[in-house]
Amino acid sequence: MELVINFSGGKDSTAMLAYLVEKFPKVKKHVVMADTGWEHPDAIEWSRGICDRFGLPLHVVRNRNKTFLEMVERRGMFPASEQRQCTSDLKRDPINTWIRNNITDPVVISAMGMRAQESSGRAKLKVLTRDKRETNTVRTVWKYHPILKWTEAQVRAYLAERGIPLHPVYQHLGRFSCRVCIYMSAHDVRQVQQHDPEAFRIIAELEDRIGHTMMMGGNLADYAAGKV
Ligand code: SF4
Repeated sequence: MELVINFSGGKDSTAMLAYLVEKFPKVKKHVVMADTGWEHPDAIEWSRGICDRFGLPLHVVRNRNKTFLEMVERRGMFPASEQRQCTSDLKRDPINTWIRNNITDPVVISAMGMRAQESSGRAKLKVLTRDKRETNTVRTVWKYHPILKWTEAQVRAYLAERGIPLHPVYQHLGRFSCRVCIYMSAHDVRQVQQHDPEAFRIIAELEDRIGHTMMMGGNLADYAAGKV
């Protein structure tokens, strides 16, 4: 059995990494990060720094054919929560390809840092389920959500107790995600405008070019103007 830790550098996947290192010291671990091409500029360097604390290398994977911005530009639309190509094409698939190409062990546990508290969809997840898509005659892949029942306060306390820092982006945003993410609230969008104006401008220009908005409530200009 080998453990693949899906890592983003955010608080939840960092707490999960620390927890798995403590809970399963003898199990072989691989930390894999999917780079959507729309990460914070220091996301990979930051993530490597976290992995260094645990003596684990970070494997960074990408979709060979597109980044987040290229995907949006080609499709002429942004992903939506019910049709989330960003996570399937840019995160899930590259990580599963990495697993197929790099792990020969017949049992793979793919650990993800989702928490039930985050959304109604995540609340329906189980801690452990067989990944039917990735399981075949030579390999069984399990999806494992070890911190599913944790609250945000527990995550923060767990990291604080171990002296593991949070990325500075948490000073103004609740999540360390893509620079602008389809799930951001109006408050988050205005924080991005203030703290990462380049990312704000890139998405605002892309919205104008393709005639489609990233958020349900309107375009970024409307968010900036306080109309949303
Ligand atoms: S962080 Fe947001 S925009 Fe980026 S891949 Fe995930 S859901 Fe999509």
